[in-house]
Order: sequence, then C-alpha cells, then structure tokens
Amino acid sequence: MENKIKEALNEARQLLAGAKTSQQLEELRVRFLGRKGILTGFFKELGKIEKEKRPVIGKLLNETKATLEKELESALREIKKAESRREKLDVTLPGRKPFVGTLHPITKISREICAIFQRLGFDIVEGPEVELDYYNFEALNIPKEHPARDMQDTFYISDNVVLRTHTSPIQVRVMEKRKPPLRIIAPGKTYRRDSDLTHTPMFHQVEGLMVGENVSFGDLKGILTVFVHQMFGEDIGLRFRPSFFPFTEPSAEVDIQCVICKGSGCRVCSHTGWLEILGSGMVDPEVFKMVGYDPDEVTGFAFGMGIERIAMLKLGINDLRLFFDNDLRFLQQF
Ligand SMILES: [Zn+2]
Repeated sequence: MENKIKEALNEARQLLAGAKTSQQLEELRVRFLGRKGILTGFFKELGKIEKEKRPVIGKLLNETKATLEKELESALREIKKAESRREKLDVTLPGRKPFVGTLHPITKISREICAIFQRLGFDIVEGPEVELDYYNFEALNIPKEHPARDMQDTFYISDNVVLRTHTSPIQVRVMEKRKPPLRIIAPGKTYRRDSDLTHTPMFHQVEGLMVGENVSFGDLKGILTVFVHQMFGEDIGLRFRPSFFPFTEPSAEVDIQCVICKGSGCRVCSHTGWLEILGSGMVDPEVFKMVGYDPDEVTGFAFGMGIERIAMLKLGINDLRLFFDNDLRFLQQF
C-alpha cells in the first residue's frame, strides 16, 4: 500500500510536469483526487488494512493528498498567467502607428525667417546663450553705467557673465573672426527678467547684419521690405519709424500694416492700423572700432526681431504663453 501511494504521487508529478493547459491540469486532478480518483480509492481501501498499520498509511495518504493539491494549485497559477499573456497578444491585429512629432511653431517660423534671408545671401550663425558682459553690452556700445542697461532686465550669472539679453552679441563675435564684407543671420534663445501677458523670461530673436563698402540705409530698407513681403505677403504695407538703439545710428523701427484689420484699426493694433515688428539701424562706428573694422572703409546695418512676435502675427495667435505650455492640442495644429 505504501509503495502504491508513492508510485501514484510520482506518476502524478510526471504528468504535472508535462501539462501545458489548465484543461490538462483539471483532467489530472480528477484522475488522482476526483471522486473516483486513484488517491480517493486508496482512502476507501483504508478500512481493509490491518488496524496497527492504519494510522501510518492514513497519515501518508493525507500528506500525499495535500502535497499533490498544493503542486496542482501552483502549476495552475503558472499556466493561467501564461494563458492570459497569450490572450493579450493577438498577432493578427494590424500594427499601431508610432506617434510622429512635428516641429514647434517657433522653430518653423525661425526657419522660415532664416530661409528668406538665406535666399538674399545671408549665412546662418550661432553664439553662446551664456555670454560675457563684454559681448552682450560693452562691445555693443553699452558701457557699465549706460542708461540703456535699465531697458534690459538682465539675468546675471556673475559680475561679468550674463544670460544674453538679445542675439546682438553674435554679430560682435562674428565680426571679430571674419573680415568684411559679410551678411549673417543669427537666430537663438534670449533671456530677460520679464514675465507677464506679453513677456516670457525666455524668448527667441533673430539678428541680422550686413557689412561692406557703401552699404547704405537704402540697402537696409530694400532688404527688410523684401523680408516683410515674403513673410506676410506682397500687399502688406510697411513703414520705417525713427528710434534709438545704442549700437546703431541712425536707428529705425519697422511697422507693418496690421495683419488682422489690414490697417483700418482693431484691438490688436490698438486702433492704429500698424504693428511694430523689428528694430534696425546703421551700425554705430563705435561698434566697428571695437572689433577692429575701420568705420571710414566699411558701413553696415543690423536688425533684430522677436520670433514669437512674428509667429503670433503670422499664425494669428493671441496669447504668447501658448507657445510654452506644450499643449499638444495647440502644437498639432501646425
Ligand atoms: Zn489692427
């Protein structure tokens, strides 16, 4: 009897090892533990055994039954896990398309601006965002005590290192390395301590510079007129308005006819019909002297514009913060 019980357990374990489905496990359970099962049969035979041996055999039977039940249960758990994994993976389903991102509207507009100037012979250049005070201010004719520094709320890293407040330091760096004539366009991030409805601490600018013999204010007007017409359309009017910048003389701001009301006056243009889009001017001779150019031999013009401003007008966006919220519903429209 004892041997029969041990053999039955061994047989059950061999079958258990080969079982692949919960169906097979159930058949196995019925075969050994069911009402007419092999172990159940042994329990029925207990009565026929000699009285003295009964407790020993009975104990062995109970232990064997418990062992087998436990092993069946854990095998069932494993098989159920594997079966549910198989159910989840349906290889006949069509594949999912991977999510494709798009360029940020600011990147797109920046590239569009640069492309227009590239067609006019300008090279794209870049410069550091963490900039020396010298390049951000002094080389641009803005010495330490100059009142123009108040116009720009600067993030200082240390006394002599700042987060650049405009892209203009790039033109100084380029002029130090290259001899005229040159035409460059410099896009990039800029930083100012400013945060409200129309300002963000980080924003984007594009700086342009053209230097050569006899570069005149007429060239400045011509190039910027071509730019405005390519960016906003041939029918958009523009005007040059006198202004002041420390690094250009004379200086002019450029307004375009309001893209919303076409000049008749609306809320966006404060009912003037005009929108300011960029600052420009003839490079101040002091700036040329700082980089070793001879102001008697060369002249040039520079201009700078905010990319967010251009993007808002071009795309009809009325809230600057939308560009930086990273809401996909907004970004996917472009
Ligand atoms: Zn308007």
